[in-house]
Amino acid sequence: MPKTIIIEPANSVLNLSPGWQQQLSQTITETSQLLQALNLKPENFAHHSEANRQFKLKVPHAYINKIEKGNAHDPLLLQVMAQSQEMQLTEGYNTDPVGDLSANKTPGLLHKYHGRVLLITTGSCAIHCRYCFRRHFPYQQQQAGRKQWAQAIAYIQQDNSIKEVILSGGDPLVLSDNKLDELITQLESIPHVTRLRLHSRLPVVLPDRITNTLVNRLAISRLNVCLVIHANHANEITSPEIKALGKLKQAGIHLLNQAVLLNGINQHIDDQLNLSEALYSAGVLPYYLHLLDPVQGAAHFNVKLDDALKLIKQMQNKLPGFLVPRLVREIAGETGKTPANEL
Ligand SMILES: *Cc1c(COP(=O)(O)O)cnc(C)c1O
Ligand code: SF4
Repeated sequence: MPKTIIIEPANSVLNLSPGWQQQLSQTITETSQLLQALNLKPENFAHHSEANRQFKLKVPHAYINKIEKGNAHDPLLLQVMAQSQEMQLTEGYNTDPVGDLSANKTPGLLHKYHGRVLLITTGSCAIHCRYCFRRHFPYQQQQAGRKQWAQAIAYIQQDNSIKEVILSGGDPLVLSDNKLDELITQLESIPHVTRLRLHSRLPVVLPDRITNTLVNRLAISRLNVCLVIHANHANEITSPEIKALGKLKQAGIHLLNQAVLLNGINQHIDDQLNLSEALYSAGVLPYYLHLLDPVQGAAHFNVKLDDALKLIKQMQNKLPGFLVPRLVREIAGETGKTPANEL
């Protein structure tokens, strides 16, 4: 498909909302502020300050706007609110559940799967998701800061089996357009690299991040670009997100979604049907539905394997095949994601 380039000025005078970087600097990090913004009382919530110290609450206003006021069980709120269950120690749950620490080739570069490497471009995210396996990840040592990019680039250059580079994090779209441009330019100079993939939650967390500069940069790349977004619930996809995704789609970028199956958030069949429909309407195909990584502090989000398999069966009965995500688990040491029916 030919790639269209959007020629609107990057900063249209008609756009009155603050820029994405300003929005990022104004994320809410205090539980009291979050509860106040949502008309919730502290007693509505089994909040835990120690859980919040371990992994600090972080949520941008653009995401808070999608949370229903006064609803302590809102599926978006539950993804960001520090809760007392996080302090329960659960057997079998640990702090590096997917074995990332042993797959490091150069700082921030993970080469676990054939033909593709994953580059941790930054440790930061615009939002802190309570279930995240990276809540314990030692980002300071592991991220490929700009200085370490040279090492990662050198590693990719010397292995011509690497066809695809996945920019991950943290969230790679937290990086400025300039930094991304610099990194993408270096990757484009490696002849055997043909695909660029970005894994980002920002299209549904801070949709203004999808600037025209970014869209245009991806559109002109010689690499075949894919953006894997991370939406867990249909409520995350509203008109600003649809608009941002539409620009990317129009620019010829492949759009996929990965979600995590989360008890209390999206474990019901209707949640999954609505999510697949909302994604498709926004030009995104469901890719993976991840079983929860057994990360310490997230056990209350777990959905049992049997229930997860039943859920997928129900989805297969209700949806076209291309709207049913692959249910997978990431297992340390494996050379790819493991399909749930092989577990
Ligand atoms: C998930 C993952 C990938 C990408 O896997 P796909 O099945 O291609 O989506 C690549 N590298 C690492 C280290 C991963 O964790
Ligand atoms: S890495 Fe992704 S899932 Fe984890 S906290 Fe950041 S945005 Fe959320």
